[in-house]
Amino acid sequence: MFGFIWSVVRLKCPKCRKGNMFVKSSLFAIRDGHKMVEHCSCCGLKMEPEPGFYYGGMYVSYMLNVAFFMPLFLAYAIWLQPYVNAFLYFVLLVLVLLALSPYIFRLSRALYLAFFVSYDPEKNR
Ligand SMILES: [Zn+2]
Repeated sequence: MFGFIWSVVRLKCPKCRKGNMFVKSSLFAIRDGHKMVEHCSCCGLKMEPEPGFYYGGMYVSYMLNVAFFMPLFLAYAIWLQPYVNAFLYFVLLVLVLLALSPYIFRLSRALYLAFFVSYDPEKNR
């Protein structure tokens, strides 16, 4: 289980857990930051199994955003409300969301592909 989570967090191929899923390793690459490799460089896994495969990744992205921001919202509603300005807190959350969006985009794709591809390092190519 730890290996699964670690490979998803590091955006590695779910089959071999070694090859990179994205062309550019930098999260904030303005140009081609969203591009994925066609096949894994280690095991040859096709990163887009079928056209439109990653439409389902949008639901994973939504789930990740809710999982990350709901605790922050609840922390404000329960504890921070008397001390912190609501508008400033909202602006801060939006800025954090914008800063994390490239990683959450990639993470959602890695997690979605890992749902369908099992770890199998022996079966290369
Ligand atoms: Zn691979």
